This record gives sequence, C-alpha cells and structure tokens, in this order.
Amino acid sequence: MADTPQISLTPAGAPAQATAPNGDPELAEEVHETIIIGSGPAGLTAAIYAARASLAPILIEGVLDGGPTGGQLTLTTDVENFPGFADGVMGPELIQNMRDQAARFGTRFITEDVTSVDLTADPKTLTTASGLQLRARSLIIATGAKPRRLEVPGEDELWGSGVSACATCDGFFFRDKHVIVVGGGDSAMEEAMFLTKFASKVTVVHRRDQLRASVIMQERAFANERVEFAFNATVSEITGDGGLMNGVVLTDTVTGEQRTLAADGLFLAIGHIPNTWLFDDVLETDEEGYLVVDEPSTATNTPGVFACGDVMDHTYRQAVTAAGTGCRAAMDAERWLAGGGGVTAVAPAVEPATVGS
Ligand SMILES: Cc1cc2nc3c(=O)[nH]c(=O)nc-3n(C[C@H](O)[C@H](O)[C@H](O)COP(=O)(O)OP(=O)(O)OC[C@H]3O[C@@H](n4cnc5c(N)ncnc54)[C@H](O)[C@@H]3O)c2cc1C
Repeated sequence: MADTPQISLTPAGAPAQATAPNGDPELAEEVHETIIIGSGPAGLTAAIYAARASLAPILIEGVLDGGPTGGQLTLTTDVENFPGFADGVMGPELIQNMRDQAARFGTRFITEDVTSVDLTADPKTLTTASGLQLRARSLIIATGAKPRRLEVPGEDELWGSGVSACATCDGFFFRDKHVIVVGGGDSAMEEAMFLTKFASKVTVVHRRDQLRASVIMQERAFANERVEFAFNATVSEITGDGGLMNGVVLTDTVTGEQRTLAADGLFLAIGHIPNTWLFDDVLETDEEGYLVVDEPSTATNTPGVFACGDVMDHTYRQAVTAAGTGCRAAMDAERWLAGGGGVTAVAPAVEPATVGS
C-alpha cells in the first residue's frame, strides 16, 4: 500500500514479438490449440505452461469487463506474500513479469474484452469487442472475480491507500491502527478476526441490527475485545488526507443521522462477483455464481473448457493460488488435447489403493 507504480500493461509496453495487433484477421483463420481469457496470475500462469507445452496460446487480456488488464493485482501496490520475492514486489510489476515470461515462450496477446462465446460447437468460438472471431479446440477461463464495492465518494480515490478488499493481503500494513470492516456475514467476521492480529481496534460496520454470520463466528467476534460493532450503519463516504484514508462518514439506517468515524483502513467484506456472465446457461456455476470444476482437475462441465483462478475459487482468492490453478488448467488442457479431446481431467499419477486389496 505504498505509492502506485507506473507500469504499462498496454500492448506498447509488451515485448513486440509477442503482441499480435488487435483485430488481426490472420488470427481468425486458424483453429488455435488453446485460448486463455484473462490476464491475472491465473491466465498468465496458464499461458506460461501452455506456451512451454507448444500449444501456441492466444491470451485475451481484457480491458474493462471483469477488471483491468492484468487483473486485480494491478490495483494494489506491495505484494509481500508471493513466493520468490523476499523484499516484496509491486502488484503491477509482478503481473508485468508474468506477462513477459508468457511472451518469452510465444504467447500472443490480444488486448480486448471477449463479448460472446459459443462453447457448444467444435471448435469453440469467441468474439471480441472489435468483432474479431477466434476459434480454438480448448479454452481456459481465468476471468477472476471482482470485490463488491460500496460505490460511495472516496472509495475509488482511496482504493489501495487505506481501502482494500483483502485482509490476508493488506492486514499486515495496519499494525496498531484502527480499521473498519464492512459486512455482516462469515467473511466479514473472518476478516475482522484476522485483522485483530495487527490492528489495535477493528470496527465492524453492518447495515442491520443483527449479523448474518454463523452463530460460532458471531460468538468469536463478540468475545474478541479488539472488535467493536456499529449496527444499523452504512458507510456513505470515505475520507482522506494527503492521499491516505483518515475516516468515514456513517449514516444510521434507522434515523438517517450521520457521524464521522476516524479510521486508517477500511476492508470491504460484502462479497465478490465472479466474472461469469459470458458463460451463463452454458457452464455450471455454484449458488454464488462461481464456475464449478471437476476437482481435482480444472475441467468444467463442457469438454475442453477449463477454469482457473478466482473465477472458480471463492475460498482462497490469492495470487499464488490463482497461479497454481492456472498451471493445472494448462496441464489439463494439454493432456485433454493430447488425448484427442476425449478425457476431461488429468488422470491421477498413481491409482489410489483399493481398500481391502
Ligand atoms: C486490493 C487487492 C489487493 C490484493 N493483494 C493481494 C496480495 O497482496 N497477495 C495476493 O496473493 N493476492 C492479493 N489479492 C488477490 C489477487 O489479486 C487475486 O486473488 C488474483 O488477482 C486472482 O487472479 P485471477 O487471475 O484469478 O483473476 P484476476 O486477477 O481478477 O484477473 C482476471 C482477468 O480476467 C480478465 N477478464 C475478465 N472478464 C473478461 C472478458 N470478458 N474478456 C477478457 N478478459 C476478461 C480481466 O481483465 C483480468 O485480466 C488482492 C486483491 C485485491 C482486490
């Protein structure tokens, strides 16, 4: 959560040999082995593995739909928990490194949004915002999930400068500070409890007079002397000073009265929106809208379509876990293609022992 670094993720900032001109009609002529949608850690890791497996992947990086080019990590600054960076690394720099690595092995990038897909045909067809139609034998979906936002004044300006949606990622920066957690469900209680490891005080702001969280989570939160509650309250503005957050304006949902509350950080815990609208009615999703895969593989319910990263994971949602599933998706796609498109998942290396044999 330091100064935002300026790292270009536009095609101009990418290695020339890896950047296909957007809308290049030649790309529409061939049937590609695999196309990856999404340029966060999941998509870029999938690209590294797919490129090194000679699948000549096309990666559609996205522009606006589902988050920025490069994904959620481009919205943050210090990343201190990605292995291999002893002194931490800036989020955009980490993404640029992954992108360069994928480019080095021949990944071709298209900086556009995908606007529609036809996954029922063979090959599968994707259409981008410029109208480019691409065909592929296999597809890797790495479109991520967006944290739900409050949509109040100050939120955009102070995002990454006090405002966050990930206590695991940013809690460490709030040692001995006062932070606010917005939400009333299990995730909000988890975030609040985690933040008490660092913060001197955590105020949970919830719009109702009762929490939605499970009884056990409520009991734990109520028993923690560092956690306070502001019930029947919504955050109507986030304020800052010198580019850093310094408090919020709370509105009482019953009386409408407003009051200010000084705080150094605010963590949103009001859910995520998985970027799956493209696949509505085609791919299976769970009750929260995340893509369902045939664990331990990354295969969706449509043969040749694999999913990785936050779009299929509402439990961990970390860069390293997204990268891990990106690796798995590329290996699944490669083995599916090598098997003539007839298998849906990577077979276990060793058959599980049969009980009693
Ligand atoms: C503020 C913040 C700080 C964080 N800090 C950390 C941290 O310190 N450490 C950590 O491990 N994790 C951190 N995370 C979490 C981490 O960013 C995510 O877990 C990770 O980015 C998920 O990777 P992903 O590739 O699955 O998805 P994303 O990074 O969300 O990428 C999704 C990609 O899909 C693209 N896309 C979506 N829809 C379309 C479409 N229709 N067409 C084309 N492209 C599309 C987007 O443009 C984007 O490129 C943080 C998250 C946030 C919000």
